[in-house]
Amino acid sequence: MAEEDSRRYRYIHYVVDHCLANWVVTDPNRVSPEKRHRNYQAATETPYVYLCGGRSFLVKKNPYGLAIGLTLITAGILYWVFEAPWAWHHQSPAVVIIFSYLWVLTLCFLVKASTSDPGLQPKNIHLPFDSTKLLLESGPDEYFDTISLPYYSNRTVGASVKYCATCHIWRTPRMSHCLVCNVCVQNHDHHCVYINNCVGAGNYRFFLWFLLTTVITCFYLGTFMFLRCSRYRRMEGYESFADFVKHSPVSLLLGLLSCVGVIYPLLLLLFHTYLTANNITTREYLNNARGNPDYVNVFDTHSILKNLAINWLASPYKNKVYHPRDTIREDLSTMILPPLSSFKISRFATNN
Ligand SMILES: [Zn+2]
Ligand SMILES: [Zn+2]
Repeated sequence: MAEEDSRRYRYIHYVVDHCLANWVVTDPNRVSPEKRHRNYQAATETPYVYLCGGRSFLVKKNPYGLAIGLTLITAGILYWVFEAPWAWHHQSPAVVIIFSYLWVLTLCFLVKASTSDPGLQPKNIHLPFDSTKLLLESGPDEYFDTISLPYYSNRTVGASVKYCATCHIWRTPRMSHCLVCNVCVQNHDHHCVYINNCVGAGNYRFFLWFLLTTVITCFYLGTFMFLRCSRYRRMEGYESFADFVKHSPVSLLLGLLSCVGVIYPLLLLLFHTYLTANNITTREYLNNARGNPDYVNVFDTHSILKNLAINWLASPYKNKVYHPRDTIREDLSTMILPPLSSFKISRFATNN
């Protein structure tokens, strides 16, 4: 009987073992070596758990972002269960429809900002033979022997080309290493604990729109909750405020939640509006621009509208270099590469 059961439900075991555990949420460290067919399944040193077969990810460490998502979902459910029927019949169906639209937008931007690739750069797996040179700030000697990259750091113009001693790659201007995610990110703005992801070239637009929709949703909800709480006598016939709160505690709860919930996103929105109007990242502002009258922002287009459009409307960075869903072809770290031609020699050859 037990054997028959195990055969009958084999497809369920198959789905759980091969699809759910290895598809819905994948922690690469829990995937057995023989089942690693795609890059994300073999990324054992990654700080992420992958979702939906490597299509998106979440940072494993300190998942505060889930708390923000749960608060948003709880507020939505409370509104639809306790407030929406009253608002639909006594105010207007439009009040409920507009709230629902704003709520969906906020949740979508939160999910996009939390689970999108912020501009991750892969680590260099071709390490120098002499391991004592790994931690050199200026990079191992052989890198200079092949292609001479300029090690350039200038706080006045805020642009630098540096070698990352952790990822063993050269960082292009605006690229920085995130200590939480332990990875280099293009246009790294900051690591946001609330969305639990780095904010960089790939998801800055989603982060900005998440802030804006959160502020609008909080103001909208707060205003209607304030209206309902302040007109309890005229609109609902209650004798006292205490009587009203006893019958509709959720109105007061949602009102207070939206008042408290709007403070931090509003401050961040104002700060990021200033940053995007100048096309400067949080990192550049805090490390170089703040209190430095000589600072020259080389990324400023000298048009506030253009700067805002670049950050709020332009398509996020599409030249992704990190492709978690690609099939693993071979272990490149053990592959013996042919020696690279010298940059100097090839330039010399071209000139002649
Ligand atoms: Zn790095
Ligand atoms: Zn990060």
